[in-house]
Amino acid sequence: MTANRKKRDYEAELRDAGVRITRPRRTILSILSSGEDHPDALEIYRRSAALDPSISLSTVYRTMKLLEERGAIHRHAFEGGPSRFEQAGGSHHDHLIDVDTGDVIEFSSERIEALQEEIARELGYEIVSHRLELYGRRRQSP
Ligand SMILES: [Zn+2]
Repeated sequence: MTANRKKRDYEAELRDAGVRITRPRRTILSILSSGEDHPDALEIYRRSAALDPSISLSTVYRTMKLLEERGAIHRHAFEGGPSRFEQAGGSHHDHLIDVDTGDVIEFSSERIEALQEEIARELGYEIVSHRLELYGRRRQSP
């Protein structure tokens, strides 16, 4: 299972960086590596507590802060809601947020990437990083 391997890699990486992998941290990491979505802290807490009732919401907040500082996760401040998290290290992608359901859809476009490079170059810049968020509502078919 790639999800498990991903989780172990993160544990090893954090351990090498001097972070002690406590049981709550391991649980939270496994939730982030197995989830395909972009949960907020409350949802991570809900899933963690289902596996380990000793995990509190403040443990989750503290852990998310630590993991973010260590570059193990990305925090997204999407409009109109709490921060959402995802594991770092995946391939680059952008997000489309469904304004009705809060669903986060990942996409990537070589055309958009190339266009951004071109715009930055014309402005005399080299892109260091970028975030692109689209907010949308499902079209009524057709
Ligand atoms: Zn994502």
